[in-house]
Amino acid sequence: MEAGPLESRLSMEDYEKLQSLFLVSVSFSRAEFIEQAWSAVRRGSREEYGLLFDSVVVTQEQRIDWERLTSFLLLGLSEKEENERAATVPRWQPPRTLTPPHPFNVILHWWLCIHYLLTSLCKGGTLGVWAGEDFALLQTHRLHNDSVRPKDLWVTAMVVLHNVHKIAVSFTSKELCFYDLLSKQQFSCQYKLQGLRYAPLSLDYWFHPTYPAQAVLTMGDTGGQVRGEGGRQGDKGGGEMGTGGKGGGETGTGERGGGETVGQVGERWEQVIEELSEHSLAIEKGCHRQTWHSREDSLCEHCPQNEVETELHFLTSCQMYDHIRDTYFPQITQILKEFENKPNFNELPYLLGEIPQCTITAARFVTCCHKKRATSEEQTPLQIQPIFMFICFTICT
Ligand SMILES: [Zn+2]
Repeated sequence: MEAGPLESRLSMEDYEKLQSLFLVSVSFSRAEFIEQAWSAVRRGSREEYGLLFDSVVVTQEQRIDWERLTSFLLLGLSEKEENERAATVPRWQPPRTLTPPHPFNVILHWWLCIHYLLTSLCKGGTLGVWAGEDFALLQTHRLHNDSVRPKDLWVTAMVVLHNVHKIAVSFTSKELCFYDLLSKQQFSCQYKLQGLRYAPLSLDYWFHPTYPAQAVLTMGDTGGQVRGEGGRQGDKGGGEMGTGGKGGGETGTGERGGGETVGQVGERWEQVIEELSEHSLAIEKGCHRQTWHSREDSLCEHCPQNEVETELHFLTSCQMYDHIRDTYFPQITQILKEFENKPNFNELPYLLGEIPQCTITAARFVTCCHKKRATSEEQTPLQIQPIFMFICFTICT
C-alpha cells in the first residue's frame, strides 16, 4: 500500500473519472463502488476503495453518492487546513509576572534580544535589569543626574543604543543622558545633551547593522517637534527632521535654549556615537566619568602597538591574538570568500556575529581571544562584556 490514504493520492483526472461513474448511476453499494471505482480509476487497491467507502458511509446499509463523497473530501481538507494553522500559530508559554523594584509604576521597558536582557525604568529613575531565560532581576540602579535633585528627577523616555551598549534617558529637565548599560559598579551619566528647548517625550534609535557608527536618535518633544540627531563618520549628522505644528519652517535653523544650534548638537551627537563606539571595550579605570577619557588612559596593555583598545583593535589588529586569527580567519574566508580582502574596519560585522553564515566561527574566535585576554591579566575589565554577552547568545542559539 502506498503512503497516505487513497483520497489524498487521487489526481483531478481520477476524481473526474469517479464523478463520471455517478452520472451513470446515482449511488452504489459497497461492492458496486469498489468494483466500478477501481476499474475506472486504476489507482490504489480494491481494499483501499473499500476503506474510502467505509469512511464516507456510516452504515453498511447506506449507499455512496457523489454528494456524500464530496462532503467527506471537503471535511478532510478543512480539518487538514485547521491542523496546519494550529501548528503555525506561536505557542505562547503561560504569562509570568515580574515584580519590579520600582516605587512607581513602570513606564518603560526594553527588550534587548541580543543580550537576553530586559530593562525596565520608572519615572522616578529606578532602572531594573532582568536577564537569563527565567528573567531574574540582575541589578537595579538609581539613575543620577547632577543637574536635578534626586527627588525632582522625572524620566520621560528611554531608548537602548544596542550597538554601543548604552541607554539614553530623557528628563523633564530638558536633558538627555547616556548611561553604560553593562557597567556593574557605576551607573553614572557618562555623557549629557543639555540645553534642549523642550523636554523630550519619546525617543527612538536606529543604527546601520553593518556600519554601527551610522546611527540616528530621534526625539519627540513637548514643543511638538520631532528631531533626528544623526551620527555618521565623516558626515555631518543632525538637523530637525520636521517640526510638527510649525510647518517645518525652522528646519536646520532652530536655536536651543542654551544658545546651541541644531547643527552643533548634531555634531556633538556624532561625537557621542563615535566616542561610545570607540570606548565600549576600552579599559575604564576611572570612577565617575563626565568627560572623555584621554587617549592614553585606554591604550591596549597587551601589545606594544600603542593603540586604544577598541573592539576594532581587539578583534582585528592586536598582536596578542595574531595566532588565533591565523587559525580562524582562514576558516571564515572559506565560508565567505570576500572576507579575505576586507579592510580591518569592514571585518567587524563578520566578527561580531552580524553575518549569519560565519556566526559560529566568529563566536569561537572571539571566545579564544577573550580567554587569551583573561589569562593575560588577573582582573578582567567589565568593558569586555559586550563581546562576552555576544558569545553567550551565540552559544544559546
Ligand atoms: Zn593590543
